Amino acid sequence: MKYIISRTFKFEAAHRLLKNYTGKCTSNHGHSWLIKLHLEGDNLDEKDMLIDFQELKILKTWIDENLDHASLLWEMDPMCQYIKESGQRIYVTKKNPTSEHIAEVVLHEAIRLFENSRIKVQCVEVNETCTTGAKIIS
Ligand SMILES: [Zn+2]
Repeated sequence: MKYIISRTFKFEAAHRLLKNYTGKCTSNHGHSWLIKLHLEGDNLDEKDMLIDFQELKILKTWIDENLDHASLLWEMDPMCQYIKESGQRIYVTKKNPTSEHIAEVVLHEAIRLFENSRIKVQCVEVNETCTTGAKIIS
């Protein structure tokens, strides 16, 4: 038997897609992003929890400090320089800042924050609109 818990986080951020991309998402635009984190494990703790939901707030803190009200931009995007020089919030990504890649970024952070001998990150789901999203499975 396996336990799976989840928590949803939200943040506001702009992004644009430039790498090998020519659609309308090359224009900087904003989304209300939703992130759904799933953790799994076989054994509960002494409180009969996989993990206290309160402990998941540390990921919300990371999201607020890094992604919220930032421009999520590919490292080769020439707009990075302007955003930095004008003192605006920026999160620079190694790949196009697609839902898929943002899910990958958050997955790595969640693994760093939560994984131990009892808890594994199962997946991270990112929605950039109410109809579109991506999921990455660990
Ligand atoms: Zn978008």
